[in-house]
Amino acid sequence: MTTKEERVQLLKVTRYNLFKIPAEDILIDLLTDSGTAAMSDKQWAGIMRGDESYAGSRSFYRFEQKVREITGFRHIIPTHQGRAAERILFEILSQKGKHIPSNTHFDTTRANIEYHGGHAVDLVISEGKNTQSLHPFKGNMDLDKLERLINEVGPENIPLCLLTVTNNSGGGQPVSMKNIKNTKEIVGRYDIPLFLDACRFAENAYFIKKREPGYSEIPLKKIAQEMFSHADGCTMSAKKDALVNIGGFLAINDDDFAVQARNVLIVTEGFSTYGGLAGRDLEAIAQGLDEVLHEDYMAYRIRTIEYMGEKLDRIGIPFLKPPGGHAIYLDAKTFASHIPAHQFPGQAIACALYTEGGVRSCEIGGIMFGKTDPRTGEYILPKMELVRLAFPRRVYTQSHFDYVLEVIEEVFKNRECLKGFRFVYEAPYLRHFTAEYEVV
Ligand SMILES: *Cc1c(COP(=O)(O)O)cnc(C)c1O
Repeated sequence: MTTKEERVQLLKVTRYNLFKIPAEDILIDLLTDSGTAAMSDKQWAGIMRGDESYAGSRSFYRFEQKVREITGFRHIIPTHQGRAAERILFEILSQKGKHIPSNTHFDTTRANIEYHGGHAVDLVISEGKNTQSLHPFKGNMDLDKLERLINEVGPENIPLCLLTVTNNSGGGQPVSMKNIKNTKEIVGRYDIPLFLDACRFAENAYFIKKREPGYSEIPLKKIAQEMFSHADGCTMSAKKDALVNIGGFLAINDDDFAVQARNVLIVTEGFSTYGGLAGRDLEAIAQGLDEVLHEDYMAYRIRTIEYMGEKLDRIGIPFLKPPGGHAIYLDAKTFASHIPAHQFPGQAIACALYTEGGVRSCEIGGIMFGKTDPRTGEYILPKMELVRLAFPRRVYTQSHFDYVLEVIEEVFKNRECLKGFRFVYEAPYLRHFTAEYEVV
């Protein structure tokens, strides 16, 4: 617990960057669902059993077998987290001038592509950019736009196509099995490999089960296996749907690519049977991948987010609908409509949620995805301005979420008092992590 005065002061000294506030001074932390899960008794038992042999540890083989069982991919390469898998993938495939289409690239994915000189292209269906559309699969790829891009730039300039399941930056919205299949069908015609950014593959599988005809009786694991069966590889942050605090992997079928990837891995992450992780981490991932596909666990998780959505709706607070798989996204443009987008209404709301109740959230809008034109100094802004309240897995209870609702309601009631922000410092990549701001 902190007092309101303390929180006002903390925001001032950290220059309004919530990433810089010590966790000790946060009451309910909804900054991210990444690496914030509570591990189970069996995962902790796995930590005790970890085999720390440098090469070919038992824990690696258990991890490899579990990942292969679910994804079906031939080569399983452990990495210390998702972006390490992305870095290896794009170091090999994203040269200057190449285009990489996705439904929506996540921030680290986009940064890794651009860092290697490629263009990250977002091609989500138009419903996916409308916060009020109730389309059941708002994370779907726009197949016409995909085909148009291939014809425009030529398939030789598209080294891979990526589907983010669920679509984190687009509101945690799922991609349908049909859309995965159709995307593969199109890129397959041009010999372009399809990769899944599979961080939330289990949540996506659950939405397919609930919303797509023909899947309601099929076990989650089988649905997940079918999703992966349409892809040629995947990147994964185990900090999401593997229910661990650190870890990730890159998985692929192509033998030549795997040789190159392992060579990069050995230079930058570690030997190919641990990839920057301890043996015990690999054990915890293997166990987590089993638990995340338990139907009751997933029903409780998705229902919690729906519950928040129902309550927000009743109060009349604008948010992205329908609620996604791992977070509620407040619609900042409507919530704080008096703050122009270039003064970051999402940042204003995020700071106010902290001041009001010690709740930490994350701006997903102009700060995270906007750009400053290096020539004109003008802001190029994304279509949606959102504030993400991400739900750590197996951490908070209904009472915690009821408290968060009260805090949001209080901020909403006093929304006219919210003020915009401007940058006083921004880094060239992933600026939201280190930026500093002042109140306009
Ligand atoms: C978290 C995340 C990543 C990056 O993973 P890290 O483990 O944070 O490096 C990539 N893509 C998506 C969709 C994510 O949510």
